[in-house]
Amino acid sequence: MSKISASCHCGGVRFRVEAPEWVLDCNCSHCRLYGALMAYYPQRDVTFEADDTFIYMWGDRALEMHHCRTCGCFSHFTVAGKTDAEKIGVNARLMRGLDPAHVPLVQKNNGNDHIFWTKSDRPVLPSHDI
Ligand SMILES: [Zn+2]
Repeated sequence: MSKISASCHCGGVRFRVEAPEWVLDCNCSHCRLYGALMAYYPQRDVTFEADDTFIYMWGDRALEMHHCRTCGCFSHFTVAGKTDAEKIGVNARLMRGLDPAHVPLVQKNNGNDHIFWTKSDRPVLPSHDI
């Protein structure tokens, strides 16, 4: 499968990954504000060509939420203290040429309020299911 290119608005964050088989709409307190659609990969499978980010953390500070230092896009999250995590999340909205008609969308109720702006024909995953 060919790699897909992803970029924030200004190009300060750019990476390449395999096209995702599905994306996640998470309604947690962070993702819902950014409208992020997350795709998950082993960290070693995400090739960053530019990574000029600032990190935002909250709560248990287990995840580092990376945002472009220039344009502010939420580009990805990594696991705090790890550089080779088995799973990191990247924002599929940054991916160029990805056709939503061919990528299943799964909703996850991390916000515990069952409010989603997206539509999905798949069951909503409960919090902490992935
Ligand atoms: Zn940017």
